[in-house]
Amino acid sequence: MESIGAMDAQVQRLREQIDATESQLRALKSQLHSAEEAADAARYLNGAYQGGVPPAWQDEFINVLGHDASNYANEETHQTRGFGEQRWPLRSEEYGRYGRQMIMPEIGLPGQLRLKNAKVLIVGVGGLGCPAAAYLAGAGIGTLGLMDGDTVEVSNLHRQIAHNTARVGSMKVDSALEYLKSLNDTIEYRAHRFHLTPQEALSIFEQYDLVLDCTDHPTSRYLISDACVLTGKPLVSASALKTEGQLIVLNNPPQPPGDVNGGPCYRCVFPKPQPAESVLSCGEGGVLGPVVGVMGVLQALEAIKLLASKPNSSITDSPMEMTDDTSSPEEPVRPTLLMFSAYNTPQFRSVRLRSRRVDCATCSGHPTITRHSLTSGSLDYVAFCGVSNPVSVLSPSSQITPSALSQVSIDGSNIVIDVRDETQYAICALPGSINVPWNGSADAWFEQALKSGAIAKHEDGRDRYVVCRLGNDSQLAVKAALDRTGLGSIKDMKGGFRAWREEVDLTWPDY
Ligand SMILES: [Zn+2]
Repeated sequence: MESIGAMDAQVQRLREQIDATESQLRALKSQLHSAEEAADAARYLNGAYQGGVPPAWQDEFINVLGHDASNYANEETHQTRGFGEQRWPLRSEEYGRYGRQMIMPEIGLPGQLRLKNAKVLIVGVGGLGCPAAAYLAGAGIGTLGLMDGDTVEVSNLHRQIAHNTARVGSMKVDSALEYLKSLNDTIEYRAHRFHLTPQEALSIFEQYDLVLDCTDHPTSRYLISDACVLTGKPLVSASALKTEGQLIVLNNPPQPPGDVNGGPCYRCVFPKPQPAESVLSCGEGGVLGPVVGVMGVLQALEAIKLLASKPNSSITDSPMEMTDDTSSPEEPVRPTLLMFSAYNTPQFRSVRLRSRRVDCATCSGHPTITRHSLTSGSLDYVAFCGVSNPVSVLSPSSQITPSALSQVSIDGSNIVIDVRDETQYAICALPGSINVPWNGSADAWFEQALKSGAIAKHEDGRDRYVVCRLGNDSQLAVKAALDRTGLGSIKDMKGGFRAWREEVDLTWPDY
């Protein structure tokens, strides 16, 4: 009898053969498609195309030229024009500008016309939105909308590449527009200098063909996804934090709620928001510039793939499919979640997603989220996602202000315990302070603090002051010590080093 190992090997072999054959078939179909388009184009440009405008181009001609394209290519027009008076579907400058991408079969002239005809909205002009906008503007997206209510800060500049030092304090939308216009002033830009609200979302999204979610908070992610489902727009969503990022193309194809052939929405993938306490912003958790840059560039790539491909074709398959791909062009789009991790090997992984959930609150046949609930403002996205309030677990007697602490001499009689992580402690710390990082567990922290000699179980005549970056973790550490020792000689520095910088030492690094 064959061993199980041998049978597994045979299964594996057959799988690989099927994969190889299917991939060959797919490549052949794609070649056929390109060859047909190229032949149509050649016939058309030679005036030999018998059927007017090639079928693959008709939509674009109608849309781009604003009238029935068949008139443009009909016999009469051709006969009455000399060779020097040919009219071309793109302006002469555009052939030069987009030539490098247009000569690829994936784009071609039809794809370039589709891009020119497309309207894309970028929500959030930060670490994701800047690179995404740059590549979309560069690629010749006809209309690019930018939405953001924030102003440029110097801490944005390591990753938000459309902004610069001179524009710190400007609206992000205006700063990005200046950059983008210098990159490509031949396309139309629309400025939305405010944060998205449920009441306005639908009327704004309706002006566009595709939306990029380049925001950084769950509240906006749910709102943007809901509005995309309700207005029938595909959504390219990405996020990045620390050294990792995620990319997902949602509501693609953008069928109406209840249509099982439509792509899943954000609520299908994440029906419930993460607990608010666990949601870190880039300001709190940190982010590496190129990591968020990679994700923003990938968003632009997915947008271009989606917009330049023929309607109803499968070129829009999935974000950078890294798994074994066995789909044929006839199969529906399969949504995947692409995950990037800068310090992992391999850096990219992709997870196949399920189709729409039958109980989705937005895209199912029985939605509870409707156009009316959005426009009436009855949906509270902030409450849905929860709010992580600043920690407040201590009585005032267990706290000391930075000013008061600055008057205390830190010698052997007093101890300052810094609960930030080691990386932050190494950036800046008070002389003589002891680093015992808060790791989220009161027991573990207390054990560590005892072991390091930072705290004692019994009164030893010394005062202890606990400090951190913002004054939240330090409160939790003080409470952990109070609960376990009952000693009143341990205090929290109110407001953390952010307050210390404001009250005591303006030179304290503001990172
Ligand atoms: Zn859904």
